[in-house]
Amino acid sequence: MEFNIALVKGDGIGPEIVSGAVQVLEKIGEKFGHTFRFTEYLAGGCAIDACGVPLPEETVQGCRNSDSVLLGAVGGPKWDGLPGDVRPEKALLGLRSALGLYTNLRPAKLYSALAGECPLRPDIVAKGFDLMMVRELTGGIYFGERGRREGKYGPEAYDTEAYSVMEIERIARVAFEAARKRNKKVHSIDKANVLETSRLWRETVHRIAEEYPDVECVDMLVDNTAMQLVRNPSQFDVVVTTNMFGDILSDEASQITGSIGLLPSASLGATTCGMYEPIHGSAPDIAGQDKANPIATILSAAMMLRYSFSLLEEAACIEKAVDAVLDAGWRTADIIGSSTDRPLRGSEMTQKILEQI
Ligand code: NAD
Repeated sequence: MEFNIALVKGDGIGPEIVSGAVQVLEKIGEKFGHTFRFTEYLAGGCAIDACGVPLPEETVQGCRNSDSVLLGAVGGPKWDGLPGDVRPEKALLGLRSALGLYTNLRPAKLYSALAGECPLRPDIVAKGFDLMMVRELTGGIYFGERGRREGKYGPEAYDTEAYSVMEIERIARVAFEAARKRNKKVHSIDKANVLETSRLWRETVHRIAEEYPDVECVDMLVDNTAMQLVRNPSQFDVVVTTNMFGDILSDEASQITGSIGLLPSASLGATTCGMYEPIHGSAPDIAGQDKANPIATILSAAMMLRYSFSLLEEAACIEKAVDAVLDAGWRTADIIGSSTDRPLRGSEMTQKILEQI
């Protein structure tokens, strides 16, 4: 099969980690007889430098016309002083919106080889965990009306959260479908004791749950969820929530796995064209030093094969190769834990994974 992939390398370590994932995809192409064609587009700080805007129209069109998008990371101190609407991060929101990507999938699993990295108590680590965060991505407070005004106590700022029934229904269905392929349990996270949007969320999720009698549906308040993720993460299978709650909880879930350098993500919409990226940022502190762990981006490429191209065997081949390399004790600097670990540079980690494939 043939696929056109838009590469948005971005800033900082973006070019290094995307290069690792491209090599892995090329190897998979050779092994399984597929052709992946790559076209590069600018977004983020590098686009601001080259074209004056974080998300050039050419990038939007190129990504729209591709079969999927592989993104590194955007941003860095060089652009931190710019106003909100021209900052590099604006490119991410813009791309998600332009491609209609309303779902963010973030698996967070504890690798047994890296259990020592997990910051939780040993008895909690012993139970293990493997959860899938399903975050609504194009609605809620990040896209609501905002501004500054004169208030009761002088100047004030406001952001508003709105959710339609349609937006909640479609994300709830993604979560229940995902749970059907996993352990058949959905935790729906809200703040229904305070927020009206959360009450609509809960009502709507319950209605969709009736279509999935084989999946257990549990409501949990967001503050309790923040605690439960560190007390007993093994209770979760699929967790579905709003844009802002998902942003915060998925970072918490990533931290308890022990390394953000390992975690991939997928952003999906109504078509098969998705956007795949590591959950970490552009790590300007280590950019250009060959220290960046490419695994999160390589696993993002595996998610692309699974969710956009339906190449399940090929995706599993990448995931198994990563498992094997970690089981053998190979580590980049961010995940070195014990004296028996075998240190590697970022590009060497990619080579180890290629050898396993
Ligand atoms: P970060 O994720 O870039 O880095 C946090 C820490 O983790 C740093 O010490 C970094 O060296 C380390 N790290 C991150 N990825 C790593 C990897 N693959 N291998 C080894 N170590 C890794 O978060 P930050 O420092 O808060 O943000 C830096 C920049 O990235 C900011 O400009 C921020 O806005 C941007 N950012 C972008 C995205 C994105 O593009 N999706 C996401 C988050 C942050």
